Amino acid sequence: MPDDELLLRLRRFHEHAFPQYRAQFRTLVEEGQHPTTLFIGCSDSRLVPYLLTGAPPGELFLVRNVGAFVPPYDGSHGHHGTAAAIEFAVLNLQVSRIVVCGHSHCGAIKALYGEVSPEARNLQRWLDLGREAVLPVQAGPEALRRTEQRAVVLQLERLMDYPMVRSRVEAGQLSLHGWHYVIEDGEVHVFDVQTGRFVAASQAPHSGTGPYPPYVEHDGQVLVD
Ligand SMILES: [Zn+2]
Repeated sequence: MPDDELLLRLRRFHEHAFPQYRAQFRTLVEEGQHPTTLFIGCSDSRLVPYLLTGAPPGELFLVRNVGAFVPPYDGSHGHHGTAAAIEFAVLNLQVSRIVVCGHSHCGAIKALYGEVSPEARNLQRWLDLGREAVLPVQAGPEALRRTEQRAVVLQLERLMDYPMVRSRVEAGQLSLHGWHYVIEDGEVHVFDVQTGRFVAASQAPHSGTGPYPPYVEHDGQVLVD
């Protein structure tokens, strides 16, 4: 490996890749960004939103954190970049979609069933945002998969506690999409609000744009059992 591989890659981008995008970025600078989608995804390095969605520059407003969690609107868990990003994306950028994207083999979900270093005090607290999704069983592959999916739904529910999200969803101006990406299959499973199940994108009739209101009547419950 060369001395500074990262520096070489930066130079390569500037010299070889950027010229293809120059005009596109100039427009995005002159006209400003108008992303359509707030994408809240896990930080996992194997989840690559641009690959999954084929989105060009300027389309995704990205927030990534451990577990793809949504903190409570009331700020009860302290300072939150994720909460601020949700407010900014909805109020200022006026996105029309919010995607919450969890994935298979998620370390955050696995950590909910195990020990976290006592030194990781922030992580410990952050994981609380997924605890309601935990099942009272041993953490086998099936239980972990179900917990990953339940955690996505939990975050969608918490999103609906943000007044600016709820009002726009109810007005039909904003759609919420719960996704579970299976890394080894390269396929997103989409949460279907009507059935309470995740359906592979190859079979799903929509990307999660189903009506949300019938589901929120059960606010506080996770319906993916
Ligand atoms: Zn993860």
